[in-house]
Amino acid sequence: MTDTFPAPEAMPIDLDIEAALDESREARAEALLEFARIPSVSALPEHAGDMHTAAEWIATRLRNLGATEVEVIDTPLHPIVYGKIHEAEGAPTALVYCHYDVQPVDPIELWETAPWEPFLRDGRFVGRGVADDKGQLVMHLSALEAMRTAGRTPPVNLTFVFEGEEEYGSESLYRWIDANEARLAADVAIISDTGFFEGNVPAITVGLRGIMYAQIDVELSPVDLHSGMYGGTVQNPANALATIIAALKGPDGRIRIPGFYDDVEPLTPADREALAALPFDDEAYREAIPVTKLVGEVGFTVLENKGSRPTLDVNGMWSGFTGDGAKTIIPAHAHAKLSTRLVAHQDPKKIFDGLERFVASVAPPGVTVTTTFIHGGDPSHTHTDHPATQAAARAIKAVYGLDPVYIREGGSIPVTAAFTSQLKLPVVLLGFSQPTCNAHAPNEWLELDNFERGTRVLVRLWDELATLQR
Ligand SMILES: [Zn+2]
Repeated sequence: MTDTFPAPEAMPIDLDIEAALDESREARAEALLEFARIPSVSALPEHAGDMHTAAEWIATRLRNLGATEVEVIDTPLHPIVYGKIHEAEGAPTALVYCHYDVQPVDPIELWETAPWEPFLRDGRFVGRGVADDKGQLVMHLSALEAMRTAGRTPPVNLTFVFEGEEEYGSESLYRWIDANEARLAADVAIISDTGFFEGNVPAITVGLRGIMYAQIDVELSPVDLHSGMYGGTVQNPANALATIIAALKGPDGRIRIPGFYDDVEPLTPADREALAALPFDDEAYREAIPVTKLVGEVGFTVLENKGSRPTLDVNGMWSGFTGDGAKTIIPAHAHAKLSTRLVAHQDPKKIFDGLERFVASVAPPGVTVTTTFIHGGDPSHTHTDHPATQAAARAIKAVYGLDPVYIREGGSIPVTAAFTSQLKLPVVLLGFSQPTCNAHAPNEWLELDNFERGTRVLVRLWDELATLQR
């Protein structure tokens, strides 16, 4: 247990609900362990049956909570669990999202205990999925269960969508959202699949970067050419590719594709102040990687460059002879894969079009250069001062006795952008794992204290959201 926060008795939530939570403490912990024993790995076909078991496990609990329209919806891959508790007429509706799929357990030899035999010991749950994202899903179910036990009606309308492909690209969910927008009508989306800031500081994630992934192919001839016979008379694809890549970014860290920054929302002075106030140590960050020196776009701090500014990075390059010794050729072709991490409101397709035009404009003569779009994902951003973000902040403050920090993540939760750009919903990313929780890695864990407090934050959140104007 951490002693960073005020004692639990200071928690000002409804006393009947608090009593119900006290009463159900063991049962709630056991529910998470039971859920985490289901090996619902979305990436491995042999777990298809487990995916169904996990989905049904959730559906049963939703029905027990009195949810309506509860459905385990089959998709081309893994089921989506849907349900509603709409009992607060005139109140706002929140769309609640978590995922029940987990990452594979490899490398299994690095687990200190069996990943599918989760346990609670010394104030921690340990096992695959306890933090990402089953613990958070169980917190949502637990908060509502305690409300029911206390005889309270949820003060907002809740629509649940729990998916099984978050760790696998969310393809089925995207398609299902396209066809079911009406069933997802809401005023706000609450996504619980993120975590706290370093040092167990309660946090709300306000920005997730998007991505545009592309490949550049430079072709000279069907086969490698003799560099003595042809050198000096033909274009070298590897040299040409290097020229192209060198043109993409300046020594100031700025990306030189015309229009690349056009849609980037500048950081406001308040944004910059909030980031500067975070307990983040550049030097400790550098040493932990470890690298000899940190670089980045000039004019921005390390933390600003880490989550709030777009990037462009070559992910891989290959061409010509790479074995031991020497082979005197002019390579037939050269290739690079590269990705840009995008911030609100950059559009992956538009960024790709800009890249394609720019590459064509800087490509040296004598080779054929093609740029191909591989995949894209939209960025998302909800303002810190958005009423829904502030409602979540008040709920955190009430339970933890601390204001949350507002963070932007370099990574992404694929569905977030669909909620913002397609369903036009403000998204609050409210999660309770710790950055060091080993999500996706061996020995994943979740602090019991955060499981308990997180559940109480959610109880408070519904009260806070109920007070907002629709
Ligand atoms: Zn997750």
